[in-house]
Amino acid sequence: VTLLPETEVLRKELEKEVVGQRITAVFVRSPAVLPAGSTPNEFVKALEGRAIEAVVRRGTSLALKLKEGGALIVRPGSVATLTRHPAEAGVDEHAEMVRLVLEFDGGDALHYLDAEQNGALRLVTTEELDTSPELMTMGMDPLTQSPTWRELSRQLAIRNCRLRGLLGDETFVVGLGDVYSDEILWAAGLSGMRMSSKLSAQEVRRLYRAIQEVLHEAVKHGGGASEPAEEGEDPFDDPLANQHLKVYGRDGQACARCRQKIVFARIDDPPVPSYFCPNCQT
Ligand SMILES: [Zn+2]
Repeated sequence: VTLLPETEVLRKELEKEVVGQRITAVFVRSPAVLPAGSTPNEFVKALEGRAIEAVVRRGTSLALKLKEGGALIVRPGSVATLTRHPAEAGVDEHAEMVRLVLEFDGGDALHYLDAEQNGALRLVTTEELDTSPELMTMGMDPLTQSPTWRELSRQLAIRNCRLRGLLGDETFVVGLGDVYSDEILWAAGLSGMRMSSKLSAQEVRRLYRAIQEVLHEAVKHGGGASEPAEEGEDPFDDPLANQHLKVYGRDGQACARCRQKIVFARIDDPPVPSYFCPNCQT
């Protein structure tokens, strides 16, 4: 799962670093990341000489909007990201994973890194930007839409399933993953095994507040949280990145609220891996 706060942090960084920059050269290092039927030459032609006007986010996808019209859609993830590469920095430490290079006036560049070459890049026209499937989110995006607690309450009643599974479902809220699903339930003091339709009004409010607080706090912290990669190692894994988390990855440690031991278990059916405090999450 591509995490929502991490994507927003990346958007903010790119906004600071590349908006207003003009692309002077484009290098496609690996045509495999381009969509089927696209050629490297198309990407060069569409991007060379254009200036980046804005970096927009929809759910967990980003788009670099071009001043002259059109956009490049990028779907970052645990194995794919965009990084600015300053002219004076020399060779990118992840050079073998760089699939696309956009070079700017002055020699700085934006690198698209993708360890698995899943092909998450696409060129669209300005008109297509609002209708492209990569940018449609089925679930709520609490960082932009701020659904009201009434809306959340209504959704919880309709869904009628266990909270932990529901939070991890991207058609409910986009980009929480295991990390923020566990963090939100801990912050709300709710057990992941509770049925979404059986919460009291006060519990819905607690869950609502927890969603907002945990996500905004994660953005403020600078994102960087990661889940263990499903296969092999996460190339961008930072061992210190999860330090601010209260419950995720902390099994056996004391709960920051009640000092009882945090537990890891697979809960629900189908089983969902979950970290929680069995004492104060009820
Ligand atoms: Zn506790």
